[in-house]
Amino acid sequence: MGRSFQRREAFVGNKGSSFLSSELSRFIREMEDNREDEDHHRHVSDVSRRQRRDAFVNSINPTALIPKDEMSSSIERVLTLEADDGSEVYCPPEWNALTMKTRAKLTSLLSWDNLSRWEFDIVDVTELSRDTMKGSSRNGFEYSRQCCPLLLVGWAILCAPMAQRAMEGSLGDNADTTTTAGRSSRGSAFPYPFSDLKINPSSVCNFLREVESRYSSENPYHNNIHAADVTQTLHCLLQFIGQENLCAIYEPVDIFALILAATFHDVGHPGLNNLYHKNARTNLAITYNDVSILENMHSAVGNSLLLGETKQPKWDVFQKFDDRQIERARSVMISAVMGTDMGSHFESVGNLAGFVEKVRTESTNAIGASGTSFSRDQNNSNSLLGVKQELPILSILVRVLSSEIKDENDESPKKECTHLANSILKFLLHAADISNPAKKLNLARYWADMALKEFFAQEGVRVANLTGM
Ligand SMILES: [Zn+2]
Repeated sequence: MGRSFQRREAFVGNKGSSFLSSELSRFIREMEDNREDEDHHRHVSDVSRRQRRDAFVNSINPTALIPKDEMSSSIERVLTLEADDGSEVYCPPEWNALTMKTRAKLTSLLSWDNLSRWEFDIVDVTELSRDTMKGSSRNGFEYSRQCCPLLLVGWAILCAPMAQRAMEGSLGDNADTTTTAGRSSRGSAFPYPFSDLKINPSSVCNFLREVESRYSSENPYHNNIHAADVTQTLHCLLQFIGQENLCAIYEPVDIFALILAATFHDVGHPGLNNLYHKNARTNLAITYNDVSILENMHSAVGNSLLLGETKQPKWDVFQKFDDRQIERARSVMISAVMGTDMGSHFESVGNLAGFVEKVRTESTNAIGASGTSFSRDQNNSNSLLGVKQELPILSILVRVLSSEIKDENDESPKKECTHLANSILKFLLHAADISNPAKKLNLARYWADMALKEFFAQEGVRVANLTGM
């Protein structure tokens, strides 16, 4: 530690956040201590890490995707033997490898009620997902190496209530008869209408496993834990909308595709942001013309796995979908993943607010004229703050989209409302993606710490590239 550390600490202190200040100070102190003790070793390892990372960044190609490592191919072999296609009580092999005590804890944590809570703790689930039976291995894959929060959370949400029943069933005599598993004891959490989609749970788990293996565990922030966190948070936001609104405005395939998009919205993230890629003119920046570089890549990887050249029958979750449903799912997934680009955040928020106001004004008049029971104080027609007589925008969407108004032109209320409904869907994933600061304190701190670590690591790569070290 020296003068440079004190100067940086003072700068951080000026930002006015004692938490960020202490976390940054600790991180900087660790960096400087390490530098004193392990200067030579660190230089060597930094160079090799940088070379590996540069090679990784430059190897990312939307058509070639990321090469599989030895571990993921071992998992595939296990899966092929253990998958129980179409079974009512399908559990993925990763679940079966957990100790009975851990299964009991996770059955409670992944219950439908708990999954639907804003206070849900993804870090707890991540730690428990590693707690496998000692010496548990099959076909060369040691379960002790597993860390699968995305697989567990995705399975629990997309395959509910079957997944919760399977979890309870796997407990045997250890089942706690007081657990609520797939049912809601509060009555507020509601199931999604996925039964008509005929989703195969083993295909869902295979897809989630493949996606999870493509998140880099070297990233402190943009890893499989973040993907699991965003997937659960998105589910929570969908629950806030309410069953009646959600089912009146959206088709089941829209909701399914949106949750699926959450699982791969950062897949293959190299730990370096769009600005880095643009300035360094990486292969990704060249491929995507500097426009939403990473988001384009994440969307291409996910869509290729589901519908493109890397698709495999064992994870074909769209197997029973017709062409119209696949087209709709693809549209939702592309729009939602592209919408996570922070570079267009403020412009998008402004556009959405303007659009809400437009629909509120024009659709309200149309519904009133169509003779429904809707009425509104015209004096408030141009004020978003005039809430006294305002209907929530979701209620307006429900009324317009279920009304008999004819679609005569592009400006018709129904088309405007459909457009707004699609925009809201896209924004839900974006909101979930940046929800960390709104979470309970220990989780908000955890994510702030991880984000800082990733930013500092990127800065290290940038400086090293500039100085040629
Ligand atoms: Zn993200």
